[in-house]
Amino acid sequence: SQALTEQYEELDIIGQGSFGVIRKVRRLADGKILARKEIDYRKMSIREKEQLVSEVNILKDLKHPNIVDFIERVIDREKSIIYIIMEYCEYGDLATVIRNHKEQNVPIEEDYVWSILTQLVLALHECHCGTVIDPETNQLKPRPVLHRDLKPDNVFLMSKWSVKLGDFGLSRSLTNPRHAFAQTFVGTPYYMSPELISEASYGPKSDIWSLGCIIYELCALEPPFLAKSQASLAAKIRQGVVPRLPPQYSTEISDVIRAMLRVESSRRPSTQDLLAYKKIRLIKIDLD
Ligand code: ADP
Ligand code: MG
Repeated sequence: SQALTEQYEELDIIGQGSFGVIRKVRRLADGKILARKEIDYRKMSIREKEQLVSEVNILKDLKHPNIVDFIERVIDREKSIIYIIMEYCEYGDLATVIRNHKEQNVPIEEDYVWSILTQLVLALHECHCGTVIDPETNQLKPRPVLHRDLKPDNVFLMSKWSVKLGDFGLSRSLTNPRHAFAQTFVGTPYYMSPELISEASYGPKSDIWSLGCIIYELCALEPPFLAKSQASLAAKIRQGVVPRLPPQYSTEISDVIRAMLRVESSRRPSTQDLLAYKKIRLIKIDLD
């Protein structure tokens, strides 16, 4: 493994992950700048290690222009560290974009909001409805993946208008039956869906709820459900009363946000349904 880690030159630390730092690295072979997430697995339980392996396997198979590209994983057994090498997103994350607009008191233009929505719907569609080739039968089989931790911090920017979904650290593959209904309390409570709060099972529509929260926040510059305590936040989320958007935003954007934030998960649009929205369809054609 020594030789493998030496294929990258370590540069600046760019973030702090839950299990180690994220660093910029230079690939010696061609000088390309990449990001390297460091995961110290020494103190992990067997269950956590299994989850880590499944995260890496999920990432390996997820290829989409709006999903942060996984390059390879390098294991350093002596240090008990797994390095995930991925593409470097130099424009930071969506949380920073929102914070900057809030600090300067400048609203985000609606065209930009639609563009981000479209790109995230495409990324989620690949997660929820993607397929892989089954090595045993050589045929395509569904490979549904739930992100489970959608929030502005986990949406990365390649440039102002180009975003990629990242940080699949809590994601689960639905094809792995043991992880099919993970009911653990994870994620930032602000973006947590009603069904997760009532400890029902997490499904694709729970990701849609969190997407609704992100798109709302792009417009209002604050999450739709805010409260001082965990308990009153939970109550607000379960009621699902979405505050009015600032007046400059159209009813179309308001309607799509409200649809994604329906308390009853079955009434929320799927990624398929969202791709049929006129506005999203037209931007998608532009992106292709
Ligand atoms: P965690 O699971 O701990 O939240 P993340 O994967 O979200 O870890 O990374 C934490 C932070 O590191 C991010 O919020 C971002 O600032 C930075 N970061 C992570 N991956 C990348 C990347 N591919 N390109 C640029 N910055 C990144
Ligand atoms: Mg993160």
